[in-house]
Amino acid sequence: MSLALCFLSSHSYGQTAPSYQDQEKLHDIAKAISSQRIEQDIRTLVGFGTRHTLSDTNSTSQGIGAARRWIKSEFDAISKACGNCLDVYYQSETISGETRIPNPSEVVSVIAIQRGSHDPDRYVMMSGDIDSRVSDVMDTTSISPGANDNASGIAGTLEAARVLSQYQFSGSIVYAALAGEEQGLFGGKILAQQAQKDGWRIKAVLNNDMIGNIEGINGVINNTTARIFAEGTRQTETPEEARTRRFTGGEVDSPSRNLARYIDWMADRYIPNLDTMVIYRLDRFGRGGHHRPFNDLGYPGVRIMETNENYQRQHQDLRTENGIEYGDTIEGVNFDYAAKLTSLNAVSLAGMAWAPSPPANVQIQGAVQPSTTLNWDALDPAQNPQLKGYKIYWRYTDAPQWQFSRYVGNVDKYTLENVVIDNYFFGVASVSKDGAESPVVFPGAAGAFGE
Ligand SMILES: [Zn+2]
Repeated sequence: MSLALCFLSSHSYGQTAPSYQDQEKLHDIAKAISSQRIEQDIRTLVGFGTRHTLSDTNSTSQGIGAARRWIKSEFDAISKACGNCLDVYYQSETISGETRIPNPSEVVSVIAIQRGSHDPDRYVMMSGDIDSRVSDVMDTTSISPGANDNASGIAGTLEAARVLSQYQFSGSIVYAALAGEEQGLFGGKILAQQAQKDGWRIKAVLNNDMIGNIEGINGVINNTTARIFAEGTRQTETPEEARTRRFTGGEVDSPSRNLARYIDWMADRYIPNLDTMVIYRLDRFGRGGHHRPFNDLGYPGVRIMETNENYQRQHQDLRTENGIEYGDTIEGVNFDYAAKLTSLNAVSLAGMAWAPSPPANVQIQGAVQPSTTLNWDALDPAQNPQLKGYKIYWRYTDAPQWQFSRYVGNVDKYTLENVVIDNYFFGVASVSKDGAESPVVFPGAAGAFGE
């Protein structure tokens, strides 16, 4: 039986995997992430007693002030070790009149930026959250270790910075320790608004929120899966864009979804014993996280986290009730697992920062024709000297992951002969000379990663 007949008759997914060029450096990066350093950093963060947004800011050993000064000093040390390769700064705003921040309070995030060599205004970002909470979200003094939620995300972000700062990238990488998450996603909102004001070309936000728990409330214990939450149609879609999408598709191909597919591939290729579930939702059912303020402004962003959550260890006063221990303590964190998810972040950030920019202004034509034609804007060679060319991907419309691909060279238009537009979804990625690829960009406003 011919190969073509074989896949047409079986129509099974995961059977065909588009070819790619293995990146030795990404294997090195995945291996360099240290679970010992992650454990050490989580222990340090837990040691601040509480990291509640409205907790003490003056103490040198307890409270949110001490915690953020320690995070800043860690980023500064990482920067010093790489010849000052990071711009490290506090991002602060005074918030008041909010349900969970009634009185004027400073919300202070810590940001570190590793500047790209050729396209520094193009950004990919990894984030975690500094603050913690117990049962009462306004309790600013009780011990609130927040070991998994979300010291794990901060420790992962610091460790990714340590490893990735040993390399040079074409695009910029942001490492963000965001504040005020539990009080209403304030740190993310502040950073997203600043990014928009300053014209940052953000191509990816990898929000890490709880990456260390492997013992689920449902009894499942599993350290081999992770979840990537990604919204469907973009929040910034206009009614006119929605009308277009109704006739051309794109509900399942927002840039956040194709970012999630990119990370899913990275897990398959570079992280042993890890399979990711791409979840077709903004976040957990009715719940929130710090990627949302970025999605709100149209930026691609996902939430990366453990698969099996334990609600007895989230947002709980430390106590024992009916023999059950409540509270987000260090005992609930598996450091090897947190390291595995950090490796996934690191290879995904590196892959995108080494790759050329995702193609912009991707268009598709082919109605009532035997063939499908895609075109896009040629990337600026000054910003993307590593560009080799472009690769077209396609898949069945009900397949979760891209199935077929063709490298088409350094062109800005290509026709797939006798591939009928109605039967597949299509997208375009950019490819570097050594084989690093951008995420796949679905045509039109529905899938755009921006300029
Ligand atoms: Zn939380």
